[in-house]
Parts: sequence; structure tokens; C-alpha cells
Amino acid sequence: MKYCKKCLTTDLRPNASFNSSGVCIACEYSENQLSESFSSRLKFLKQMIRETKSKKKNHGLYDCIVGVSGGKDSTRQAHWVRDRLGLKPLLVCCGYPPLQMTDIGASNMSNLISLGFDIEVFTPAPQSSAKLSLSSFKKFGNVVKSTEMALFSAVPRIAMSKKIPLIFWGENPALQVGDANTEGVNYFDGNNLRNLNTLKDGGVEWIFDEVDAYKAKAYLYPCKESFDKAKVDIMYLGTAWDDWSNDENSIYAALTGLTLRPDDTKITGDISGASMLDEEFTNINMMIKYYKFGFGRATDICNERIRCDILTRNEAINLVKKYDGICDDSIVLRYCKYVGIKVNFFWDVVNKYTNHDIFTIEKGVRPRRKFKVGVDFGS
Ligand SMILES: [Zn+2]
Repeated sequence: MKYCKKCLTTDLRPNASFNSSGVCIACEYSENQLSESFSSRLKFLKQMIRETKSKKKNHGLYDCIVGVSGGKDSTRQAHWVRDRLGLKPLLVCCGYPPLQMTDIGASNMSNLISLGFDIEVFTPAPQSSAKLSLSSFKKFGNVVKSTEMALFSAVPRIAMSKKIPLIFWGENPALQVGDANTEGVNYFDGNNLRNLNTLKDGGVEWIFDEVDAYKAKAYLYPCKESFDKAKVDIMYLGTAWDDWSNDENSIYAALTGLTLRPDDTKITGDISGASMLDEEFTNINMMIKYYKFGFGRATDICNERIRCDILTRNEAINLVKKYDGICDDSIVLRYCKYVGIKVNFFWDVVNKYTNHDIFTIEKGVRPRRKFKVGVDFGS
């Protein structure tokens, strides 16, 4: 396994890319971005916004859409777009089925509404959501693939139907986590979001196998031609900020009323207390990611902290050894009830997707990591 020289990204990460010095694209970007000042980045973003708006003369009531959930990034983005860029945003949220949404997420959405934004919520039928979640779990080892497809697809569909020319998302996946397939022509350009693993891999046929065509539509990301015809552009906001990071966004959002997780790191493995606040089953996906690729959410959080110089690589190794892959049995049990399966069947499916070089597997139970001291983490 090859590790980034700066952080803990490995070549097992889908679409990972390393430069000739063995540094991942996220770390490379993080070093280079310092050469460009905040004011020049902001000027560039404003110029791109002007160009997009000028392509579409008769747009609707709103200047742009900000995709939101009940999470920390939403609050900060919504404020920034309205107050800093002076735009009129419509916030669009793809709601989760009641069994999937957390109380914290629901309360955070209420907080966002109380801050004075217009919000449009689209929620696919809960029965179809559960069916598709089980199907994508069995087919791809991913319990939230269909949830994410619905979330990413709802935003452009609503933009097109309301003639809104611009969509803002927060983090640029190419730069934040090193997903090279989504790279655009510049660091704000999000028009290649369609290449995101979760949207592209595996196609969409499996959805039609499970639900009626009219229900399947909620999960389909509009094609490039539809974007071009509707003159809709996607831009990432994270790259416009000097201090875009999970930690900074959490602090900002908490100060404007966002509720963070209680101290349940041992249950969720979330060392930030602030990731995926709105939804329960992503915790399971973060755990499965660990079994598939050998790294989980703690690695992602630590990598960002290494790039922000608030954690050393060695300190990060200790944290990821302790917290990567944690997801309590109680969450697994709730998921099994949600989709109607037995717990041992759940582990059998997880085992099927587990990397056998890194983990030992046993029928019907959790995989176990085979740590190789001196080999793991490229040290
Ligand atoms: Zn790196």
C-alpha cells in the first residue's frame, strides 16, 4: 500500500492521485493555495458568478441554489452566499426518511429556517429509500449510495425547473479528499461533480430494477446536455475561503445555533463531533469504507488537520488507529431494522466487500484488522 508523504491518504482511495514526489493532490493543493491571496480568489469567484448569470437572461426569483442538509457546512455556506456575496439564495434540501434522519439534523434544519432563508425540501418516498439502500448495500457495499444520489440530483433538478443558473456546493472533492475524477477547469468549477464515485460507478439500471420509473427519477443526476441546455453551473465555495475546514465550519455553525453531536466518539467514531450530523447511516458507510480500503472517517478528518498544521502525521496515526472504523452495534441494528435484514447477514455482506489483505474475516461477524507495525502508514 502506498501512502502520501504528507498525510495518511493511500492509493487504495478510489481515484487517488499522487505527484512525482509521492504527495496526494489534496496536500499538493493545500501547499499551493497559499500562494494565491484570499482577495484574488474572491475576485475570481465573483467574476465567474457574473459570467454564469450573464449566460441566462431571464432567470427566476433566486440568484442561486445552495444545497443544504442539517449539517455544519450548510449554515456557513448559506450565510456566506447571502451576506458576503450579496446573492439571493434558495436553499434546497433532500430530506431523509424519518428513520434515517437524526433529531440533531431536524433541529439544525429548523435553526437554518429561523435564520431567515427560503428552503425547498424534497424527500423521496421512505419505502423506496429503504429498498434502494438495501439494494446498494448488497450490490456495492454502500448503504447510502442511493441517499447521496437523491441528494446530489435534487439540487440541479430544482435549479433547472426554477430557472436558477447557479448551484453552490461546499467542499471540492478533488481538493478536499483527493478525488481526481471530479477536478474542474479551476478550483471553483464543480461541473464535473457528475464523476463523483457515488454518482457514476455502478450506473443507474439497478435503481429501475427496484422501483417504478417515476420514483427512480428522484435518484438520477441530470445529464451534461441538460446542464448545458439549462445553462446551469456548479461552483464550490470551500476554495474561496482561507479557513474552510470541518473544524472551522463547525465552530462557525455552532455559534449560529447549530447543535453538535454529544460526546459519542466511541459510538460513531466521529472525532470531530460534527460530521454527518443530519443522518444516521453514514456512520455505517464510514465503517464499511474502512473495511474496504483500510481507512475511514478519522483518517479523512486527520488528513485535513495535518494540512491545516494542527496535527502531526504521527499524532494522526495514533488517532486513526483508535477511531477509524468505529460504528457501534446499536447503529448497525437500527439499520438492519430499517431495511429488514438480520445482523449476521449484514456482516456477511460487509465481509464480501472487505479487503482480505488488511482484515481477517469470519462468517456473520465484524472483520478484524491485521496491523503490520512498520508497514502500515508508510512509516
Ligand atoms: Zn496527502
